[in-house]
Formats: sequence, structure tokens, C-alpha cells
Amino acid sequence: MTTKTATIAVPDSLSQTAHDFIARQRGALIDGVIVEGDGPEFTTIDPSTGTPIATLRESDAQVVDQAVQGAERAFREEWSTMLPARRERLLHRLANLIEEHAHELAEYDALEGGKPISYVEAVDLPLAVEQFRYYAGWPTKITGAVVPVSTPNAHVYTQKVPVGVVAAITPWNFPFCQAAIKLAPALAAGNTVVLKPSELTVFSSLRLAELALEAGLPAGTVNVVVGTGAVTGDALTRHPGVRKITFTGSDRTGRILGALAGERLIDASLELGGKNPHVIFADADVEKAAAYAATTAFFYSGQVCFSGSRILVERSAMDRVVETLRTHAQGLTLGHGLHTETTMGPLSSAQHLEKVEGFIREAQEGSSTVAFGGHRSESAGTGYFLEPTALISPTDDESVVRSEIFGPVVVVQPFDTFEEAVDRANDTRFGLTAGVWTKDAARAHRFAQSISAGTVWVNTYADYNAAAPFGGMKDSGNGRDCGPEGLEKYLDTRTIWMSIE
Ligand code: NAD
Repeated sequence: MTTKTATIAVPDSLSQTAHDFIARQRGALIDGVIVEGDGPEFTTIDPSTGTPIATLRESDAQVVDQAVQGAERAFREEWSTMLPARRERLLHRLANLIEEHAHELAEYDALEGGKPISYVEAVDLPLAVEQFRYYAGWPTKITGAVVPVSTPNAHVYTQKVPVGVVAAITPWNFPFCQAAIKLAPALAAGNTVVLKPSELTVFSSLRLAELALEAGLPAGTVNVVVGTGAVTGDALTRHPGVRKITFTGSDRTGRILGALAGERLIDASLELGGKNPHVIFADADVEKAAAYAATTAFFYSGQVCFSGSRILVERSAMDRVVETLRTHAQGLTLGHGLHTETTMGPLSSAQHLEKVEGFIREAQEGSSTVAFGGHRSESAGTGYFLEPTALISPTDDESVVRSEIFGPVVVVQPFDTFEEAVDRANDTRFGLTAGVWTKDAARAHRFAQSISAGTVWVNTYADYNAAAPFGGMKDSGNGRDCGPEGLEKYLDTRTIWMSIE
């Protein structure tokens, strides 16, 4: 069966290399080979224009089985038994190749994800490279321990061993970067991977698998299957050969995968959404705080898990913060992800745009008022563009205050006391990140230590580094990406007892 590839209707600025790569894709990449299979077709859309990019075939259960078997073989015969120093060298080589191809890789995410290409090159790609470099240093440093048991004549030690085939499932908002965040530690630990990117953004992950082969990773070490969660994701996570699920996405899907992993008695790391309080006290450098608040509310059209989408401001600083947000929003250039002058792209899909508009409508019908924005931006083109929007919400019970909107919509709310700020910042089912701005160091520490969130930023926001654990509390998930914790979740412990009688 052959799949048609739709005419690639994209701006001329797409490089020939990226164009040709997209035109070649048919479906999965397994053991270094393109595998189409007989699954249903799906078409990726350019959200900046609403036009189709290419049509591929969903990886069905048969294709997924082939991918997992390839990964099992590579795990058994090559990757898990490779000398650590060689694994380290290969991961560094992959990092080099990503750097060499950074522009091309950024093109895929800018085209399919509508992300401003200049930001993808400045933020996502360096973060991805950093993941591979950081974790490349680990294979030679993974150690067990000698255990001081209270048993005579026993020598007991532990080994840290890879779990086997890892199913990595990623969202559309950071396609390449999230793939790197999953793959780098999983591979460093000696596992092989079957990656399923979001069906909205497939090309940068497929290209990553090609680059892994080019770097010298054995065929089967990195495989990519493509398709929806219902078809491909479900087949992958139910496959008995998969020994670990690592997932980033919505809490809705996280619950499904957590339950499935429980049934299968395997481990699932779940990096989920957030509704992140960004708290500004009046004694802070309010101009700087407001500038950060504006940048991180509208960055990638607010489609970021740690977006500072709920700003709590001490009442006397309220007007200054709202004015800074407005000025920042007016300075944004909405446009196609591939255009270098674009500073804010579209939302990911027509359906998502409608959902975000629904939040704004509902807020207006409630007690919230629109400070600016609130409409589709037609001037940016035929894509799924929404104006950067700020809402002032006097109460905490509206869905714009409580839900993850995942759009360029920020809610601003006044508060009066420290205790009130802490209570309201914690009054959310999520616990991914929080930010606090104050010049009072004791207050900053008190606040940070009172917040139920995996990351708290003080007088800064949105910093991220491969060495610093990142993940959520409460409904924002479990486990951590990055740092030693990010590696640990891909390792199992073997205890060896030996008689020395
Ligand atoms: P999503 O949950 O809809 O999809 C994520 C991935 O899961 C996709 O690849 C999808 O195809 C797959 N999937 C869906 N149903 C599945 C199933 N039943 N079985 C297996 N796979 C399935 O999320 P999304 O809309 O792609 O991403 C946005 C969400 O991701 C937001 O909530 C955001 O906050 C979150 N996110 C979290 C982090 C973090 O580090 N905590 C980072 C980025 C994004």
C-alpha cells in the first residue's frame, strides 16, 4: 500500500533539505528503515496557514510490534551491553549532529508547531543539545553500592541496570526538545526507545532517529512510530515488550497511561500540565517582574506547561503590571512560524483555537473583564491566530483561573497579604511551577518553601537546565526530568548476594 504525500504548501523559506525530508516520509522509522504499514492515513497541518503539509500512515499494532521487537533486539544484542565509554561517545556524536542540523530541525517544529523559528533555534535546540551532552556524561558514572547487611559471611552489592524498551510519548508544544528530554537519559541508562511524537508534529522526531543512526547508534536503538494516541499510542503502551512508559502531555492522557501502567505493573513517569501562579509583591523590581510575566505568559502563544498564566499582583502594583503586559503584547509580531521576524505564532489547531476562545467567552460571561485582546487575529493570516489577551478576574472560581488554558491568555488578579498570596497560589489542583518576585530574601524563601510545586523561581521565571530536576506535584504528575532524578527513573536495581564463607 502506498501513501500519497500532499503537496507541501509552505513558505518559500523552507529549506530544500527539509522539504525533501518531509516528502520522503511515509510512516514509522524502525531499525533504520521507513515502515508504512496498513494503518489509516493522517495529515499534518501547518497551523500558521491551516493547510495540509503531508499525509502519512498511522503506525498500527503490527507496525508498533515491529518497532518494539527491533528495540528489544537492539537492547539485548547491542545497546545495553555496549561499554559505557562507547555509549558516551555516541551520545556526544549525536549532540554534535543535532548542532550541525539545528536550523533544519527547527524548521520542522516551526512549520508543524507554528513556533517562531528564531525562538526554536535560540531555545529548543540548545536545550535539546544540552540534554544529550549532560546525559552523555552519565554512562561512565552509573554505579551500584556495596550493602552493609547484618548477615555473617555475605558480600552484598547492587547494580543499576537499564529497564529495557522504553515507550516515550511526547506532546506537540516542544516536539524536538521533549524527544531529547526523554531519549537522552533513557539511552544513557542503556535502554532502547520507541518514541511516539504527537500526531501534530512528527518530522523533527523522525529526523532525530535518522541522526541517531548517522551518529552510530545501532539500528533499533531509537525507533519512531507515528499516529494518534488512540491507535499508535495505545498499541505501544499496551505492548508487553515495553518495560517503561515516559510521558509528557495532558493530565487527561496521563491518567489513562498511569492506570494502564498500573494494570501492567510497569513504571510510568508522567510530566503533565500546570496552572502556574506568578506572584509579584510590590517591593519587587516591578518593571522587571512584569516584563518576565509578559514574556512567559505569551511565549509560544502560551502553549507551554510552565507558562505563567495566572499572575497574582500585590494590589498597589496592579496597574503597572497590566500596562507592561499591554505594551509587551503590542510589541509582538504575529506570523508564520517559519518567518524570522515572527515573535508569536498561531495556536496548534483549529480545535484548540476554539477551545481557548471558549475560555475567554466564559470568563466574560462571568465576572472577568478583558484588559486587552480577546479576539482572533485575522491580520496574521489564515492560520489559528489569537491576539495576546489579558483578563482581570476578581474571583478564583472561574475556569480561566483554575484550568490550564494553553493559549496566549493570562489572568491577572490582585492580592493584599503574604498569607493570601500563598493560599491562593496553592489553591490549584496543579503543582508544576510557580514564580515569586520580592526584594525581601526571607519572604522569598518563606514563599518558595510554602508552595506545592516541583519548581519555584525566585526573581526570575522559566529557567531550565538539564542538570536541574523538573516535574510536577499534585495533578502535574510524578517523577522528574533532568538531573540525576531524570536518569534514575530509567534504571532498575539488581541486588547480588554472595557467600564469602
Ligand atoms: P496530550 O495528552 O493530548 O497528548 C500527548 C501525547 O500523548 C501525544 O503524543 C498523544 O498522541 C498521546 N496520547 C494521547 N492519548 C493517548 C493514549 N490513550 N495512549 C497513548 N498515547 C496517547 O497532550 P498535548 O495536547 O499533546 O500536549 C499538551 C499538554 O502537555 C499540556 O497539558 C502541557 O501542559 C503538557 N506538557 C507538560 C510538560 C511538562 O514537562 N510537565 C511539557 C510540555 C507539555
